[in-house]
Amino acid sequence: MTSYVFAPPQQSSVAIRGTQERFPVRRIFCVGRNYEAHAREMGKDPERDPPFFFTKPADAVVENGAMVPYPPETENFHCEIELVVAIGKGGKNIAEADVPNHIWGATVGIDLTRRDLQLAARDKGRPWDWGKAFDHSAPLAPMVPMAEVQSLTKARIWLAVNGEVKQDADIADLIWSVNEHISILSKSMTLAPGDLVMTGTPAGVGAIVPGDRVTGAVDGLADIAITVGERT
Ligand code: MN
Repeated sequence: MTSYVFAPPQQSSVAIRGTQERFPVRRIFCVGRNYEAHAREMGKDPERDPPFFFTKPADAVVENGAMVPYPPETENFHCEIELVVAIGKGGKNIAEADVPNHIWGATVGIDLTRRDLQLAARDKGRPWDWGKAFDHSAPLAPMVPMAEVQSLTKARIWLAVNGEVKQDADIADLIWSVNEHISILSKSMTLAPGDLVMTGTPAGVGAIVPGDRVTGAVDGLADIAITVGERT
């Protein structure tokens, strides 16, 4: 048996709706600018360029209902509501039509973003990690097994801050559909069970501050809620 110099990190995981079992998280892939109106609000033309990806660490996962501390080194902390797809069967070079056979389930999550750090990095041609991949940056609602998922192609997706709706769209508006972008992702990375894909956010992103209550959903799939804590 392998002996480690200290206890290895705890396995990151997400609750599963209707069971005490949990979904173990391996990696978190995120799709950039996957809704036209959001690409425009970020100052980019929504050309149908190939999708691009960034990542968050698995241990950035936050339980639904939790308080998320306001992160350090930002003055512009944003929330992005996203459909999240969970891989249950690994593979590479997965054909679009075969993608559903690799999906374990789906849920809704929030891609928390230090927007000022992200945009500064973008404009200098630097990596996005400091804007996207910080502590507590991936709140996720309980996972829904695929047999209980109504649709990954049409459903309202929305987010509200203190009860006021800020983002309101439909996952039908994804520039690159779930089957398309997971197929493309699998040509660059060998996907494995436990990988999550956050599929991009619609227009209406904005700043949140300590004390804010953020709620959202993909209707018919899952709801999520977090509160923003004090600055750490
Ligand atoms: Mn996002």
